[in-house]
Amino acid sequence: MPAPYSSPLAEELGPAVLDRLLRYVRVDTQSARDRTSSPSTPGQLELGRLLVDELRAVGLDDAEQDANGYVFATLPATVAGAPVIGLLAHLDTSPDESGTGVEPIVHRDYDGGVIELPRRGTVLDPERMPELLDAVGHDIVTTSGDTLLGADDKAGMAEVMAAVAYLAAHPELPRPTIRVGFTPDEEVGEGASLFDIERFGAVCAYTLDGSSAGELQDETFTAAAADLVIHGVDVHPGFATGKLVNASRLAGKILAALPADRAPETTSGRDGFIHVYSVEGGAGTATIRAIVRDFDDAKLAEHVAVLRETAEGVVATEPRARLELDVRPQYPNMRVYLDERPEVVAAAEEALRLEGYEPLRTPIRGGTDGSVLSARGLPTPNLFTGGHEYHSVREWASLQEMAGAAAVAVRLAGVWAGRAA
Ligand SMILES: [Zn+2]
Repeated sequence: MPAPYSSPLAEELGPAVLDRLLRYVRVDTQSARDRTSSPSTPGQLELGRLLVDELRAVGLDDAEQDANGYVFATLPATVAGAPVIGLLAHLDTSPDESGTGVEPIVHRDYDGGVIELPRRGTVLDPERMPELLDAVGHDIVTTSGDTLLGADDKAGMAEVMAAVAYLAAHPELPRPTIRVGFTPDEEVGEGASLFDIERFGAVCAYTLDGSSAGELQDETFTAAAADLVIHGVDVHPGFATGKLVNASRLAGKILAALPADRAPETTSGRDGFIHVYSVEGGAGTATIRAIVRDFDDAKLAEHVAVLRETAEGVVATEPRARLELDVRPQYPNMRVYLDERPEVVAAAEEALRLEGYEPLRTPIRGGTDGSVLSARGLPTPNLFTGGHEYHSVREWASLQEMAGAAAVAVRLAGVWAGRAA
């Protein structure tokens, strides 16, 4: 069995990372869709204020929360002439599972068996979650079984905080100016929308928002959303003969006609998909909401065309029915922007190797703040956090992997300091 910590540095950072994670997950920061202000929920402001206080306490005196709930702070350089870099994590947790009353449990020296949690019969079973077997001998943090943990992304946040606190306490270590940023509403796709890149003032940034140890992600899906509204003809069913055109039945036919091999449950790796995530309606009108994803823009357009042709084909069988289709882009694959600045990913690879990790270059079957930030001019790849099974009551994190991620952030500072002009 490999040593649980990736380095003495990680072992030193471990207790601080755990302490911070356990504190941050107790603040309910679940975000809400269809927000009318930023952030979407008050808990994110509360956690942001706590972070401002903690950043100032470790010496990042300019820490502040802006009007939209973003927390920014600066750790000044100890070498001259190095580019300013950013470290980012997000404040919110997923709307898909409760984040209220999170009571984390630490399981020391995990033995590789089934972990039974006290509430809701929730079980972590290595048969179904093989990543647990990579964490044998680690200290594992879980929920009590009836909430998410919030390691997504409070593990990332705890790692950024522990790394900057360590660097602040070690001015003898060469480092560039580091800008810290904590963003609201990432889980509802708004983390980057009000991010003030100008004010942030970094040449590049790294989100700590990945999962398995060693992950370095420079590629996300390109994403679009599609709403289909089917208009039928609603008539009292007692007088409906030859008159009623049932929009919900047409919606059902569209769903049945969509290709089964282009769904998230039947695709993996680099294949894209069409995902219907909501269906609602009555006899008169029905609405199907879907997201469409691919790594390749041309293939994304093809999935959208399949969706359109399928819906149009079904609705065309009933001349009195009508279809409205609204397709809008959501976020781009960040790869094209990061390819223009190869030194950004190269620095992360170097930092990972210094910490003993072989970089795992997995494409993200989703998006991150980095997708939009990279497109807006702040190249931002994503690094692992050591959290797993995100957005579920089975969410867990390895202390040793989290400490390793914090150590990678410390080493990243050294790598960029070495690039001083
Ligand atoms: Zn996340």
